[in-house]
Amino acid sequence: MTSEVENKPVICTESAKELVKELRASFATGKTKSYEWRLTQLNAMVKMMEEKEPQIVAALHDDLSKPELESSIYEIAMLKNSCRLAVKNMKHWMMPEKAKTSLVTFPSSAEIVSEPLGVVLVISAWNYPFLLSLDPIVGAIAAGNAIVLKPSEIAPATSLLLARLVAEYLDSSCIKVVEGAVPETAALLEQKWDKILYTGNGRVARIVMAAAAKHLTPVVMELGGKCPVIVDSDINLQVATRRIIAGKWGCNNGQACISPDYIITMKDYAQKLIDSFKCELERFYGKNPLESKDLSRIVNSNHFARLSKLLDEDKVSSKIVHGGERDKENLKITPTILLDVPRDSLIMNEEIFGPLLPVFLVDKVEDSFDVINSGTKPLAAYLFTNKKKLKEKFVATVSAGGLVINDTTVHLAEPTLPFGGVGDSGMGAYHGKFSFDAFSHKKAVLYRGFACDAFVRYPPYTRGKLGL
Ligand code: NAD
Repeated sequence: MTSEVENKPVICTESAKELVKELRASFATGKTKSYEWRLTQLNAMVKMMEEKEPQIVAALHDDLSKPELESSIYEIAMLKNSCRLAVKNMKHWMMPEKAKTSLVTFPSSAEIVSEPLGVVLVISAWNYPFLLSLDPIVGAIAAGNAIVLKPSEIAPATSLLLARLVAEYLDSSCIKVVEGAVPETAALLEQKWDKILYTGNGRVARIVMAAAAKHLTPVVMELGGKCPVIVDSDINLQVATRRIIAGKWGCNNGQACISPDYIITMKDYAQKLIDSFKCELERFYGKNPLESKDLSRIVNSNHFARLSKLLDEDKVSSKIVHGGERDKENLKITPTILLDVPRDSLIMNEEIFGPLLPVFLVDKVEDSFDVINSGTKPLAAYLFTNKKKLKEKFVATVSAGGLVINDTTVHLAEPTLPFGGVGDSGMGAYHGKFSFDAFSHKKAVLYRGFACDAFVRYPPYTRGKLGL
């Protein structure tokens, strides 16, 4: 079991084994399967957010200087919506779904029964450390599972708060938080789980999948990538610029998996777009964005150094047309736009995950599709245009976790849409009913009586039985 040393829980292989054993015993009692248990947990989660919002906002501020309103909307209100949606629909989701049968099994009836998988592990990332930890858990609870959450050590204040709040508000015999970094996660990954949902980078995803494979554990991988934004010239430029800014710097200062990573636009339109960015950025963040309270800081010095390296590459640093100011001590980087970056630069080949926005130039807008399709599949791709044909081509030819036309990032807030990646940006999906499905087994059940016992299926197998 976890033990507390100066508020730091420690877990090793043996204690992780004990933890899973305890949760399996709780799951075996059947209590997580009842509708009442699921409902109680989800309502308790809503209550937790209502009562502890100031503490949650403060922890997010400690970890990321996240602006209060951003935390309240993107972390807390979104999670409340998830809980409320599950509370409203869970009874319906839990009901067996009738399935049609054919002459092959006539007479018969069939249904698909959603059953909980068992004991599941959620490993989350630091950038939306509250939402990304608890949103998958909403689905895991709704589906009736016992759960372990491993929050990210890179957002330590939120991790500690999550451990305390989950213990205080939720059923600790079935839902547990294990804090820690690589050794603790490794100890957890040695255990057999019934599902793992991992959010984070592709390198660690491969470690998680290799560990899961040893136990044939299914996984959902919520990863990242370079999310492109194509900007055509026939648009409402001011609205488009604002929506790109909201998705980039308004989402944790670009430290979001679906934040625009780079822009593709035409050579003869780029300057107009840059001018619009300069104007709107100044309107939103003032003349000295290093002082702005509306921008998160970079999470830590490692990530600050990583972003600085992208910016300092010789062939890139001369391309800065806006921003570029850095405050190493306070881990701040201002919204930075780079024009006409070379395709072989680091910044065009690594996920940026920060406030830098390169603009890549093409001759005509249709060339953008080749640029995107020559890279790995992104988690999201965006297109700003008014042309019907271009929208159709975008949907038909660009493969990404999700697409948005004439906005950025907002598909995340639609629970009727699955949220997940494809190829290098991940596998599986969650949100809304997709979260329930991600943590359920769809059990096929066929009902028959004893009538119409077709003799053709029994030996001896003679053609005469088939009337041939
Ligand atoms: P991170 O550093 O917080 O790591 C994620 C988790 O992996 C943490 O809980 C961490 O403890 C664990 N971990 C790290 N190294 C490990 C190891 N060697 N073995 C086992 N576990 C280990 O987060 P990150 O990876 O920096 O997150 C950023 C990435 O996540 C970006 O690529 C981003 O696009 C992606 N992301 C995706 C989504 C999504 O929903 N698809 C959301 C947020 C972030």
